Amino acid sequence: MDLKSTIREIQDFPKAGINFKDITTLLKDPLALKATIDAISENLKDKGVEIIAGPESRGFIVGVPVACQVGAGFVPVRKPGKLPAKVERYEYELEYGTDALEIHRDAIKPGQKVAIVDDLLATGGTVLATARLIESLGGIVVSVQFLMELKFLNGRDRLQGYDVQSLITYD
Ligand code: 5GP
Repeated sequence: MDLKSTIREIQDFPKAGINFKDITTLLKDPLALKATIDAISENLKDKGVEIIAGPESRGFIVGVPVACQVGAGFVPVRKPGKLPAKVERYEYELEYGTDALEIHRDAIKPGQKVAIVDDLLATGGTVLATARLIESLGGIVVSVQFLMELKFLNGRDRLQGYDVQSLITYD
């Protein structure tokens, strides 16, 4: 199935110069949604994944059905102040300023095999922070799965050493 044709591009969102990839048009298409979840789950076959970790918020949408399909649990990785129990925090640099992500300290046990699932790879900062959080708890990042990859931003270079796959690429 041609998944790319179901993704809508919105010029100048959320700010001028950005061509935003809107997945709501894919999500409301039953065949495209199923094909997406099936394809990511297929990529994770035979990797022994015990936990899917998804960064807020589109990583939740894609990550939870994949977790169900591969027989794994789901762990949310969230913006600061959203998770109720004790957290680990990872701060990372943006073009201007810093951002941070958090994970519950008891979300992952040492040695557990974790796959990260998110909708889009841009600079790689979000997923690198997610991987560092998982590793700080002793988890092993066995795979990183994206629906889309913006190749021209070279996010893959920051994720060297990880098994990275994406269903759709934009050159
Ligand atoms: P990165 O940290 O790789 O630079 O940015 C990736 C994160 O930003 C992802 O969590 C993704 O949800 C969000 N993101 C950035 N640009 C887009 C876009 O054009 N479309 C969508 N759906 N998400 C985006």
